[in-house]
Amino acid sequence: MSTRLTELNDNIIFATLRDYVEQLAEEGLDGPPMSPASLHGECSPRTAAAAGEGARASALSPAAARNERPEAGASRAASGAAAALFSAYPGLEETGDLAELRAFIGDCRRCKLAGGRTHLVFGVGNPNARLMFVGEGPGADEDAQGEPFVGRAGQLLTDIIERGMGMGRAEVYICNVVKCRPPENRKPEPGEIAACEPFLWRQIDLVRPQVIVALGSVAAQSLLKVKTPISRLRGSWHEARGIRVMPTFHPAYLLRNPADKRLVWSDVQQVMKALGLPAVKPGRPR
Ligand code: SF4
Repeated sequence: MSTRLTELNDNIIFATLRDYVEQLAEEGLDGPPMSPASLHGECSPRTAAAAGEGARASALSPAAARNERPEAGASRAASGAAAALFSAYPGLEETGDLAELRAFIGDCRRCKLAGGRTHLVFGVGNPNARLMFVGEGPGADEDAQGEPFVGRAGQLLTDIIERGMGMGRAEVYICNVVKCRPPENRKPEPGEIAACEPFLWRQIDLVRPQVIVALGSVAAQSLLKVKTPISRLRGSWHEARGIRVMPTFHPAYLLRNPADKRLVWSDVQQVMKALGLPAVKPGRPR
């Protein structure tokens, strides 16, 4: 009996620790807080630097503040880094639409994620969407079906779009930072993100959304080029190459931490306001 109780206690402790580590990972932290002070919101040099990054990212350009759609090719014009990004893959910038971009990517083997995939998960939705969701990478369901956000987390995202925002899933565009599934659902490595980044930015260039919602730490940190935890990035507007970006928690994180749905709901309401969408009272996400 006492052995059974010990096993139960061990299981509970393990599950609690796992949830805690998953939460740290989602927030973009690779270890536990350094001191009790950080648990109470006092800034360490590390978090102070991170807050500075976030503050810089929050200053919107006049075009983004006016909520205009970017001009064609704006991301390249906005940054010399973008030019270098596209020049890594000659011909990428000449792709004229999403079908051409998909054909360009082809049976991509530019990073080691290619070795474990069933399908390359390109993206789905309206090629002229005003609103784009960018996630981290395909999971098992997405890898099997070749479409982003189709598993349990995908169902929650669909609920947010349809019941929360009153839009159709087909009205928006949905894709991920990396197009191939990382093994064991681990986070994509920096080299894998870098290898796939030109494809993501060409997708963004071609869709030219007014607003991007970055789902989770990997998407937010990749788009904004910061290391700030998602818990500090979310809830305020940022900008990436002339486009408004609203970081928020990833739906997979919400499945483990349902209490934080209220924070995502608050972020989503800001997005709806920016897009001029009417409030949808009965459709609040579960
Ligand atoms: S993750 Fe991106 S860069 Fe890597 S193989 Fe897949 S499509 Fe190519």
